[in-house]
Amino acid sequence: CNSVEALAEHTGVPLENLMAAISETHEHGVDRFGRDLGKTPGLQVPFFAVRVTGALFHTQGGLAIDGEAHVLRDDGSPFPNLFAAGGAAVGVSGPDISGYLSGNGLLTAIALGRIAGEASVSSW
Ligand SMILES: Cc1cc2nc3c(=O)[nH]c(=O)nc-3n(C[C@H](O)[C@H](O)[C@H](O)COP(=O)(O)OP(=O)(O)OC[C@H]3O[C@@H](n4cnc5c(N)ncnc54)[C@H](O)[C@@H]3O)c2cc1C
Repeated sequence: CNSVEALAEHTGVPLENLMAAISETHEHGVDRFGRDLGKTPGLQVPFFAVRVTGALFHTQGGLAIDGEAHVLRDDGSPFPNLFAAGGAAVGVSGPDISGYLSGNGLLTAIALGRIAGEASVSSW
């Protein structure tokens, strides 16, 4: 958008709130979240907006799987055509936050997803 007014209309954010947030940041160099923006250049047109929403950050626990990402039954035997990876599969983080490993979420989504894909093709 080429003006704050147009940005307010486009996003549906009340203009006075948008103006207040922008002037607050420009006047103090620090926004309401405490981020120091004093050393970054001021906002200039065109303005861009992103919608920020809640998202699942991390899961601990999940479906038990084998080394080919087959989901396991209670007796430990694998379902032939049911696979799990990423947040749906149990990982190595353990039962609570103390075991959180940064990077492990995308690791299991991508690496295990590939393994599951390859295993599913070879089981056809
Ligand atoms: C803010 C944030 C920062 C993160 N930073 C990191 C990081 O630095 N390093 C790291 O390793 N991990 C990070 N993670 C975690 C990582 O993003 C997740 O662990 C990973 O994306 C999980 O992958 P996934 O494929 O299991 O699930 P998702 O990425 O959640 O994918 C699930 C998909 O299924 C779709 N879906 C849901 N329901 C349905 C349905 N009924 N029909 C069809 N589709 C459906 C969803 O739209 C989504 O696209 C971060 C997560 C967040 C939220």
